[in-house]
Amino acid sequence: MYCSRCMLLTPDSSPCPQCGKSDKLRAPQDDDMCFLLEEDAMFGDMLADVFRQNDVSFAYKQPREGWMSSIFGASFDKHRFYVAYSDLDKARSLADSLFASDPVDEDGEIRP
Ligand SMILES: [Zn+2]
Repeated sequence: MYCSRCMLLTPDSSPCPQCGKSDKLRAPQDDDMCFLLEEDAMFGDMLADVFRQNDVSFAYKQPREGWMSSIFGASFDKHRFYVAYSDLDKARSLADSLFASDPVDEDGEIRP
């Protein structure tokens, strides 16, 4: 089921794990935006690029904007990704393959 309040897919026949309620649950529609994952800004930008290249309908939000990143650096910002229900499987596999790839250099050494 889909909680239209939290934009979250939920396990069948149980309340939404986020808001704890059932009154906004309904069957998901193809164009419902569903919460996919939360990533920091660096991977979030990469993921957004991959989604654009693969025609995934998505949106993302940054819960904290502006001053956090300017003080502590962009890595503290989290992007929350939402994708259309019809693109959810594709988005998941794209995200999996992106995060499965090793960020370390090809020769296996981490550069200083
Ligand atoms: Zn909910």
